[in-house]
Amino acid sequence: MAVQPRPRVVFSKCLGFEACRWNGVVIDDPFVAALASRVEITALCPEAEIGLGIPRDPVRVALDPDTGERELYQPATGGRHGSAMRAWVAARVAELGDGPDGFLLKNRSPSCGFRDVKVYRGFVPAAGSGIGAGFWGEAVLARWPGHPVEDEGRLKNFTIREHWLRFLWSLTRFRLAREAGGIDDLVRFHTAEKLLLLSVNQERMRVLGRVVASHGKRPLAELWVEYEAGLRAAFAAPPKPGAIVNTILHAFGHYSDRLAAPERAHFLSLLEAYRDERVPASVPLKLLESHAIRFEVAYVLGQTFLDPYPEELSMISDSGKGRDL
Ligand code: SF4
Repeated sequence: MAVQPRPRVVFSKCLGFEACRWNGVVIDDPFVAALASRVEITALCPEAEIGLGIPRDPVRVALDPDTGERELYQPATGGRHGSAMRAWVAARVAELGDGPDGFLLKNRSPSCGFRDVKVYRGFVPAAGSGIGAGFWGEAVLARWPGHPVEDEGRLKNFTIREHWLRFLWSLTRFRLAREAGGIDDLVRFHTAEKLLLLSVNQERMRVLGRVVASHGKRPLAELWVEYEAGLRAAFAAPPKPGAIVNTILHAFGHYSDRLAAPERAHFLSLLEAYRDERVPASVPLKLLESHAIRFEVAYVLGQTFLDPYPEELSMISDSGKGRDL
């Protein structure tokens, strides 16, 4: 089993790190707790850090009807904290720089949420609302585009969670390769990620292969930049289960003729169970790995596809929406 690197993840602090929510509670989430033990943690609470106190009266995002500007408005006190929050955000953006590999934010928060936050049209109690991003969530998307950014609500969906984990660890391995900096490091990275890339986006995998192959004709620094952009684009959306099945079959083809017919049939039945959402991908993948060990299939054993992130994070719990996104 491969040694897994530690991604640098920025969390909303109330996700298990401190009881800093407006009502003074902390959110216990078993997945976040497991994740925290395998990553480098930066935990931030924008509202506490701008001095709103714990506990505090709730705040909301409200559009100022006079200026059209977004405010962080506290209805109980009439307080307007948009300027303080913008200053905090600017300071954190500068401080974090190119450091983070990914973000795990609190959903629906007027500060941390990045996609499902109520945005009120004005300050009066009956102001209607739309949906947008919180101050920090919005800044994260703007400053770190193409990064693995999710919230703990969406990560309850098995498919979204698995994809986010694959993306986060793949990018972290890429960062380490890029820090090493040589063409050998890029070739090694691409070779090991090939099946993982095939499973998320076959077309992008081919394009990335061409980027690596253009070494010698173009400056190496240019290749790293182009490869990174392509890698992020490859993970822009979770793959369809069919793409994972096809990738597993591709790897299986490296040794399947050496299996007895009943073994082949057993493997293919597990793959069908995955396709029908009766078992997670890790079930056929574990058997694939066992076969690769038995037949010493070095190419398959060297693939991060077998082991894309720490095993204890592959919890099978789900929000109940199955693979629906
Ligand atoms: S959602 Fe963000 S601002 Fe609100 S308590 Fe959690 S970390 Fe703090």
